[in-house]
Amino acid sequence: MKDIYSHIEDHVDESIEQLFELVRQPSISAQKLGFDKAPGLMKDILERNGFEAEIVQVPNNGLPTVYGYLPAATNPESAPTLLFYCHYDVQPVDPLDLWDTDPFEPTRVGERLYGRGISDDKGNIGARLAAIRAFRDVRGGLPCNIKMFCEGEEESGSINLPDLIAERGDDFRADACIWEGGGRNLNGDPFMYMGLKGVLGVGLSVRMLSGDAHSSYAAILPSAPWRLLRALATIKDEDERILINGFYDAIVEPSAEAVAAVEALPDDAPEWLDTFGVKSFVNGLDGEDLRKQLTFQPTANITGLDSGYQAAGQKTVLPALAKAKMDFRLVPEQRPRDIFDKLRKHLDKHGFEDVEIQILGAVNPYRTSLDSPWVQLVAETAEEIYGRKPVMTPNMAGTGPMFDFGETLGMPIATSGIDHPSHKIHAPNENITVEDFLLGARHAALIIDRFASDWG
Ligand SMILES: [Zn+2]
Repeated sequence: MKDIYSHIEDHVDESIEQLFELVRQPSISAQKLGFDKAPGLMKDILERNGFEAEIVQVPNNGLPTVYGYLPAATNPESAPTLLFYCHYDVQPVDPLDLWDTDPFEPTRVGERLYGRGISDDKGNIGARLAAIRAFRDVRGGLPCNIKMFCEGEEESGSINLPDLIAERGDDFRADACIWEGGGRNLNGDPFMYMGLKGVLGVGLSVRMLSGDAHSSYAAILPSAPWRLLRALATIKDEDERILINGFYDAIVEPSAEAVAAVEALPDDAPEWLDTFGVKSFVNGLDGEDLRKQLTFQPTANITGLDSGYQAAGQKTVLPALAKAKMDFRLVPEQRPRDIFDKLRKHLDKHGFEDVEIQILGAVNPYRTSLDSPWVQLVAETAEEIYGRKPVMTPNMAGTGPMFDFGETLGMPIATSGIDHPSHKIHAPNENITVEDFLLGARHAALIIDRFASDWG
């Protein structure tokens, strides 16, 4: 692999220039910003790297996926196929005043490169393309078929992905899949994760009056915010137990290996306390119990509350309407639709038939087993690249559409990437170091090589 690694290093400036080109093009899915040009640029960059590329229209007028196929140099019909899942959309840049540089003018300061999406996930796209380019230049082509699936609305909850997979899933099928997410943690150990929580996002609203009233009428008229607060208060008790009937029913106990993996994870509790400015965690959790709670337990979280007057001074008003948004992070094998139905029944049972609920997002949870041969193979390559055994997390506490590839399309999935906790993804001053980029590119190259020789 020396020839490939040297090529990646010798051409790192060009690879970074290509990454800068991607970052310079805004692609904020939440605001549908930049999508007149972003899919075309993504397609163009894949084509420049030898791919047959296509802008894939997504059902329900979703933001397009960009898909690329690069056949193996010899006998592509019999060669195995590896799929890289990536996304070219990014998070909003607000608050803009906390950025030290223009988020869409990538800037190098020493060994750190700044810009929105430069780590999540354009950095992964760039690192993978650097590895692919090395094979083409040094070896005259790829030892396996490569598919690149670059989603355009991952940061908006991949809401149309299940429909796209139902419609065109066969085109994206491969013998194995590499997900985003992976890299190094704070003490320099490589890390991988085997799954992601799912999510159900809902909006709740209750209207009690045809319009806002003078607050003196509070003596005789019903209050929408009080009503909504009472409804919300029935969902979770003070010990964090979610009270929706059957909420926990579908949960599968994590395997002994998964539990052991979480027990072995580093203790980040002191840092979290510091970062979030709290003295303790809910229910006094700490140590292994804290990590198990974060990894294996679902949540019922209020993400927003809105009613009445919040501007300067006082307005004596009785609000007609109250609204809230919630997200429920789900664990295997909970299903968002089922939880939604149970939430509806729960509110009805408590006499809150008038509280309207609307689904805002739904992603199934997914977890692959730690002893999956594909996970083992990728873990071995991580150890070769980083010189240490990877830290294995059964699932992230966050959400992504792994289910659609792992379960619906039945592909084994493992993660690899350019991540480091200092990258400030989703936040102002998102960045990446040249070293993280190079490590991610080398790891992608070794995965391609090992996949072609040992997996097909
Ligand atoms: Zn991402």
